[in-house]
Amino acid sequence: MGPGAAAKYGAVAVIVRSLTSALDDYPHTGNTNYGNNPKIPAAAISTIAANKLSELLKSKVAQPVQFYLKDNCQMLPDVLSYNVVGEIKGTENNNKYITIGGHLDSWDLAEGAHDDGTGVMQSAEVLRIFKALSYKPKNNIRAVFFMNEENGHKGGTKYAELAAQNHENHIAAIETDEGGFTPRGFSFDGVNPALVQKVNVQWKKLLEPYEVDHLIPGGSGTDIEPLKSQVPSVILIGFRPDSQRYFDIHHTPNDIFENVNKRELELGAASIASLVYLIDQHGLSL
Ligand SMILES: [Zn+2]
Repeated sequence: MGPGAAAKYGAVAVIVRSLTSALDDYPHTGNTNYGNNPKIPAAAISTIAANKLSELLKSKVAQPVQFYLKDNCQMLPDVLSYNVVGEIKGTENNNKYITIGGHLDSWDLAEGAHDDGTGVMQSAEVLRIFKALSYKPKNNIRAVFFMNEENGHKGGTKYAELAAQNHENHIAAIETDEGGFTPRGFSFDGVNPALVQKVNVQWKKLLEPYEVDHLIPGGSGTDIEPLKSQVPSVILIGFRPDSQRYFDIHHTPNDIFENVNKRELELGAASIASLVYLIDQHGLSL
């Protein structure tokens, strides 16, 4: 929102210090929302570059400070694209679904390994784990790779639209889009606090040995959010890893495969599979 606000006061462009506690040379990209204000150029610079600029602005020697900004970003027209859906059929409830999802797209300056390659892999991994264990779920279990999360979440919107159109009864939807780090637990989006309490009483002990027992009220995710309005019965859940390092790499050229820890990624997938198993066996209602 910064550029729009600054434009009102006559700014010709805005430079943003990247939002991270890491001191490095990676600028972070992200959404810019101008509202009804004039669209002035906006760019993020790295924290090291921001410190340098700040020093120059304070220094008496280097006045006046000149900043050269060349911006060649452009918004290309929409093209046809797709969500990717994999499914294990349920043995008892053929119209009930539990979904796990992440998103396929990423910002163009990054590989998007954590945002959200890890989420996509974990979603697929839940199905693979069930197959490897020869587990036959009662409900349909779906892995959904959403398209276009970063740029308007059209994939999530379309998924909810089709779910409503096809009268699919989603029991729960879990989103993993906070990085493939060590799992800590799950947050339950907009549910009756009594349900979170019940989940804690019944399931916390089972998850405790793996330290993924942080079961709290909170957000879920952008891709499953549209299900809320379209399918009122669905319970939205966010996978919560230890996200301390997430914003060191989020939306930067440093969000690369080499920065994913295999063990942490697998632990996340296993904990999501555990929760899906519990929901599949016992349901998720008061
Ligand atoms: Zn993401």
